[in-house]
Amino acid sequence: MADQDFDVVVVGSGAGALLGAIRAQEQGLKTLLVEKADLFGGTSALSGGGIWIPANYDQARAGVRDDLRTAFGYMLRCVRGMASEDRVLAYVETANTMAEYLRSIGVPYRCMPKYADYYPHIEGSMPGGRTMDPVDFNAARLGVDALETMRACPPGSKLFGRISINAFQAHSMLSREFKSRFQLIGMMLGYFLDYPWRRKTQRDRRLTGGQALIAGLLTAARKAGVQMWRNAPLRELVQDASGRVTGVVVEKDGRQLQIRARKGVLLGAGGFERNQAMREQYLTQPSRAEWTATPVGGNTGDAHRAGQAVGAQLHLMDWSWGAPTMDVPKEPAFRAIFVERSLPGCMVVNSRGERFLNESGPYPEFQQAMLADHARGNGSVPAWIVFDAGFRAQNPMGPLMPGSAVPDSKLRKSWLGKVYWKGETLDELAAQIGVDAAGLKDSARRMTEYARTGKDLDFDRGGNVFDRYYGDPRLKNPNLGPIEKGPFYAMQLWPGEIGTKGGLLTDRDARVLDTHGQVIPGLYCVGNNSASVMGPAYAGAGSTLGPAMTFAFRAVSDMLGRP
Ligand code: FAD
Repeated sequence: MADQDFDVVVVGSGAGALLGAIRAQEQGLKTLLVEKADLFGGTSALSGGGIWIPANYDQARAGVRDDLRTAFGYMLRCVRGMASEDRVLAYVETANTMAEYLRSIGVPYRCMPKYADYYPHIEGSMPGGRTMDPVDFNAARLGVDALETMRACPPGSKLFGRISINAFQAHSMLSREFKSRFQLIGMMLGYFLDYPWRRKTQRDRRLTGGQALIAGLLTAARKAGVQMWRNAPLRELVQDASGRVTGVVVEKDGRQLQIRARKGVLLGAGGFERNQAMREQYLTQPSRAEWTATPVGGNTGDAHRAGQAVGAQLHLMDWSWGAPTMDVPKEPAFRAIFVERSLPGCMVVNSRGERFLNESGPYPEFQQAMLADHARGNGSVPAWIVFDAGFRAQNPMGPLMPGSAVPDSKLRKSWLGKVYWKGETLDELAAQIGVDAAGLKDSARRMTEYARTGKDLDFDRGGNVFDRYYGDPRLKNPNLGPIEKGPFYAMQLWPGEIGTKGGLLTDRDARVLDTHGQVIPGLYCVGNNSASVMGPAYAGAGSTLGPAMTFAFRAVSDMLGRP
């Protein structure tokens, strides 16, 4: 006997889970969403909120031309046979319908015409326009009390630890566009003059990125009437004698509740990056749970195990959405370093002091290169990101604001030798960080020479439109700058990730498949809980959230018996 009856039970509260819950409830299916943590939103709330949507509704406004056939070809080539053609096609065909649905429930997006796909060398890629960024969201629409139930992003991702910044504004500032100065003043005035709101909460009223996405979804979920429980972990799935999944066992207030789901259970409980045992079982080593940029304690693969227990097939378990990460004091999780590594005047070296990758390349390939170089015995875990006084003065790096704004004398004393290392000469720096001095000096000399010629002869950094997105457009090569003027600095990078991408294998409607390739009736799975439709790749910014929500949309269509 079930303790409670619903049509649909959704597990997790990331973007895919929330979208599925809203659509199910809106379509008349009584829906319960259960979240393990004491806050809603998962990693999705901390994310940039970007979605990769080929041929999307906003491209025409932005002057971008795209078509589904080209996008399909590009994605298939990226996926290299590690996700079925059928699923790839389902994604490409439905992504924009999902984005339009998001807009219709109050979560509009804008196309980013300059943000290139991640693999410009692969046929069918676009120099921009497939990635979309959420429109800023006014938190008053959600309300302060509900806002406090949503996971906040760490202060480090905001201006001065408080003021939200969206992807367009960040790009404008990092590219040193003239208008960025006025934008900055506007953002500061907007925040500080909003006295009535700040009396209620420290959190900025203007939400951007993943905060805008999740706040918009939470607002829509409340409006639709989805029941949502926090502190309510899934413990197991319930299966009937025919093999159909008919519900879940959830823990709530110290009790195990059996909940019936007449139409289906939608799993969206994230990856397994916070589970050290599973990391050791599946991922390339070395691999530590603390290197990940996702919320502490959150994604421990519970629903992977629950799915396995009912016969689900796992796929892509050795892959993650890799990214270099940094340990920043007082931040609960390591910070993903997406942008700074691409700016001119820094380089990444191993313990031989040698560069081993294109610092400006896509972050998953960056993490893979770290692990591969380490496996060759070159000591790349951690790797060191090295820069000189010129870079330090002009650019941020992790928690270090540009030296022109926050000089070394204003940095916490305890950070020296923990967060950053500093030497008057490269020899001195090399000795401090245990890196070969001759190798380091040679790498800096070569980088300085490449900055002069505009051509990186070793890794072709800045050689394509993706690399150049974050750089200094005034330079011959926007990603190359000299490393020659002391003092010199180094910081550690770890081969972390923004989520794992292996999970339950699903079909084109997010239906979970068993180890014989047969559908397990009643069970659906999306997001990092499922094996990614991107296979080993990251087609463009937004390749995790776009599919998570698109397949949640399709799952609900399937529950409703619609094509
Ligand atoms: P999550 O959002 O992590 O949600 C999973 C939820 O399930 C969590 O709340 C968790 O507590 C809950 N849960 C776990 N176990 C249970 C259980 N037993 N019972 C109930 N609930 C459970 N991706 C993009 O596509 N675009 C971006 O712009 C982008 N930017 C990023 C920026 C950063 C800094 C980071 C860290 C990531 C970024 N990502 C981005 C990656 C993206 O955030 C994740 O891949 C995505 O959020 C995963 O969504 P999910 O729903 O699978 O998992």
